[in-house]
Amino acid sequence: MDTKSKELFEAAKRHIPGGVNSPVRAFGAVGRIPRFIASAHGDRIVDVDGNEMIDYVCSWGPGILGHAHPAVIEKVQKACQNGLTYGAPTENEVILAELIAELVPSMEVSRLVSSGTEAVMSAIRVARGYTKRDKIVKFKGCYHGHSDGLLVKAGSAALTTSVPDSAGVPSDYTRNTLVALYNDKASVEALFQANPGDIAAVIVEPVAANMGVVLPEDGFLEFLREITAKYGALLIFDEVITGFRLALGGAQEYYQVQPDLTTLGKIVGGGMPIGAYGGKKEIMDMVSPVGTVYQAGTLSGNPIATAAGIETLRILKEDTGIYQRLAANAERIADAVREAAGDAVCVNQIGSLLGVFFTSAQVRDYKTAVSSDTARYAEYFGYLLDRGIYVAPSQFEAMFLSDAHTTEDVEFTCSMIKEYFG
Ligand SMILES: *Cc1c(COP(=O)(O)O)cnc(C)c1O
Repeated sequence: MDTKSKELFEAAKRHIPGGVNSPVRAFGAVGRIPRFIASAHGDRIVDVDGNEMIDYVCSWGPGILGHAHPAVIEKVQKACQNGLTYGAPTENEVILAELIAELVPSMEVSRLVSSGTEAVMSAIRVARGYTKRDKIVKFKGCYHGHSDGLLVKAGSAALTTSVPDSAGVPSDYTRNTLVALYNDKASVEALFQANPGDIAAVIVEPVAANMGVVLPEDGFLEFLREITAKYGALLIFDEVITGFRLALGGAQEYYQVQPDLTTLGKIVGGGMPIGAYGGKKEIMDMVSPVGTVYQAGTLSGNPIATAAGIETLRILKEDTGIYQRLAANAERIADAVREAAGDAVCVNQIGSLLGVFFTSAQVRDYKTAVSSDTARYAEYFGYLLDRGIYVAPSQFEAMFLSDAHTTEDVEFTCSMIKEYFG
């Protein structure tokens, strides 16, 4: 039953582009009507028609503790009693900055913003200000938010030009963004050789989780660390998804590779809108009011958002078993898919992130990711949705586990996956 969702979707389309405030929510890639959500607790979300679903989207990552975690909700409610925003410094901001520096030691100094997009945009500005260079390198298939300079695809002369990947982005804004290939060292080397002394930073999702889930091959992140250092460029890890998810210290802890700058989002806000960027003091001293790189925000460091973020990080920090539990559940699902689907599907899984690709290729980059059969994915998605299992409405988004996923619900999910492939 999705009568009420259908009605709301029609109403939404009259006053909201495509009926949604972020495109993937429209279910366009899977040919279904989006479910309008009424509430969520633990590992379940409930739509406006009363359908209860086991949620593997987890708001695209923030929900690592599950929905409406009582301790987080309590902290948020308490914070609300004291006013929603002041536009002045608060103790919570100090506590959160200290927690970030403790858990992610490369982020000695950090600045809070309100989204991942803003965090990345600002980190790149800092890298450019610090190195006094204009060009940046990003990887095809990695997503870093919707700022102008990052909505690019490689141009015909990929070594020197990129072109906008969205209408409304002037080509002047993207000509300083160079595009390399994930897991392809030679493509990065070539860009540095063609643009010596011009590259301010390389930005990468250390585990790519916006083209499905694609793991860095052995030595790839270490290589990025070395080549950026060699050419005097900064290395930026976009850990908006991986931060506090792969490990308490994110992918940089998991892989033991230290970037110069890190961007955070999603989990760091515990479900409220926060982004953060940071690095060594020497680099972050570029930021206004200390330095000459301007960056500001009316709601930055918002007291309600920091209350949710602090409580979430505290719980993650104190629960020493959580990352093992998350990974064990994700492995169970990965094994179920592999067992049921065999070579027809490629499953990439790391920690609580999972990518199920409908391709017989070994998915290791953008090209192999897009070899997936998206029509098959849409069918799989619909099959699960109709059985109360809510996975990402796109082949190219990750499946997220939360600590609220019960063994029972994971087992049920595995059995439905087996039924689909069987
Ligand atoms: C979600 C995401 C962003 C953008 O964050 P928003 O909060 O949606 O602006 C940036 N980088 C990565 C890796 C992301 O997954």
